[in-house]
Amino acid sequence: MTKLPIETRNLFVPSLEEIAQVLSNGMTSNFAEVTVEVVDCPDLSEHPFTLACKGLSGNPKIIEVGGPPYLLPTVDRTKVYDLGEIAKAVGSPSAFIIGAGAGPWPFANTNCEMAANLHIKDGKTKNLTWIGKVNPEDGSNMASQLPSTEMRHALLSNLYFSDGNPGLVVKVHCRQRTGSQDFITSIRTTLQDFYKDKPVGLGGTFLLKEGTAKHHVMPDFSSVPLNTEDELNNWLKFYNFTAPLVSVGTLVTADPGLDLRVQHFHTFSHHGEVGHYHIDTQPDSVEYLGYFSLGQSIYRIDRPVVTHQIGRD
Ligand code: ZN
Repeated sequence: MTKLPIETRNLFVPSLEEIAQVLSNGMTSNFAEVTVEVVDCPDLSEHPFTLACKGLSGNPKIIEVGGPPYLLPTVDRTKVYDLGEIAKAVGSPSAFIIGAGAGPWPFANTNCEMAANLHIKDGKTKNLTWIGKVNPEDGSNMASQLPSTEMRHALLSNLYFSDGNPGLVVKVHCRQRTGSQDFITSIRTTLQDFYKDKPVGLGGTFLLKEGTAKHHVMPDFSSVPLNTEDELNNWLKFYNFTAPLVSVGTLVTADPGLDLRVQHFHTFSHHGEVGHYHIDTQPDSVEYLGYFSLGQSIYRIDRPVVTHQIGRD
């Protein structure tokens, strides 16, 4: 593998207590009930989260690989990355990795979504990563988990790296959406309003405990170029997934000149759904429970030289 181009920036790292206070105050503009507190991370390896490690602590890093310009307007099939190589490249050869990306089409034989969920330790991998495909027969969503030897993903990803250790996290519990912003946008814009141009990066997971949510899944690569947001949305397949849903990903409150995707979460369920989270669709009854930690630094890997803003939602 040729050497991956990497740019790095330090992130602004406030105290978890301050983050909890800011979110407690601000998220009430989007949710009727908001409780945010700093807690010891529950065991995220247990149901319903079923992550590859128990916690989110130790060497926390935000990673963005590639980007939508490798998918749009036409796919660049040379953009296939190995998470083991990425882990070594960012100085975390052993790491718990969660997040959102495009799945390994050479393995799946089709373009697909990926909800990364794996633990690399001393060269061995516990890989619980999910991929979601569109069934070309009937347009249904097909979900499966990757074998432990399949470490690749394609095109783009937004990942949270840590040692997977227990430790303090920010717990965000919200009920009943009253504003227009989804759970992650509400967290991001609330922090952005407070921290302004200081980039704060969060990674973690949330459970949609009650309700349904709009997701998309990429079908196989388009045979015609997709030049606009409308053409992209006509190509994507949209679904209404049903709780309980587990999502993993990252958000960043300000872009320190790295051409970032500022939020990106992918979802898996234990009833056969994997896709890209947009927003809950039963706001009156929706309930979210999230656990997040702060990245110390951000690593921008293989940033597209020619860029655009299509497909960042
Ligand atoms: Zn996505």
